[in-house]
Amino acid sequence: MLRLFYPWEYAEDIYGIDYRKLFARGFRGLIFDIDNTLVPHGADSTPDVDAFFRELKDIGFQTLVLSNNDEERVLRFLKNIDALYICDANKPYPKSYHKAVDMLGGDRKKVVCIGDQVFTDIFGANLSGIPSILVHFIRKPGETDIGIRRKTEQKVLRFYWRSKSMRHRLGDILLSGKEEGVI
Ligand SMILES: [Mg+2]
Repeated sequence: MLRLFYPWEYAEDIYGIDYRKLFARGFRGLIFDIDNTLVPHGADSTPDVDAFFRELKDIGFQTLVLSNNDEERVLRFLKNIDALYICDANKPYPKSYHKAVDMLGGDRKKVVCIGDQVFTDIFGANLSGIPSILVHFIRKPGETDIGIRRKTEQKVLRFYWRSKSMRHRLGDILLSGKEEGVI
């Protein structure tokens, strides 16, 4: 059962992934969580994140942000980004993941879901049959209290780190970074 919470790969952040390799392996769509994955919770996008999405488009990817937040927050984030979106996604329930796959061409085997939360982003992707990458969550400056949900995530991940067969299921797509995420 724990396997339903295991990502296919872990990266320190969104910049630690070799997207060109993912594209070369046949992936064409990327689903991103917003909060704590791309920017700190509730924050607007930054010039770096805007440029990141342009780079993904240049590689050839279609991108989609899948957020449990409302449309106002999602559109504020996407002000300078050309990406599809689904708001009020109700993750981890699979319905919006299936809709996202449809919007990205319809083949869930060509899509990767990237997010910071084991119990929403990754669990939902696994329930929907979509490969996933867990990234370490972005903290606001000075934020130290990680909360009970993050502690529970770490307990699950302790088993994941030991499970060699469940790690690196997308191949060697990491640009750099630590092997394990430690809060
Ligand atoms: Mg998040």
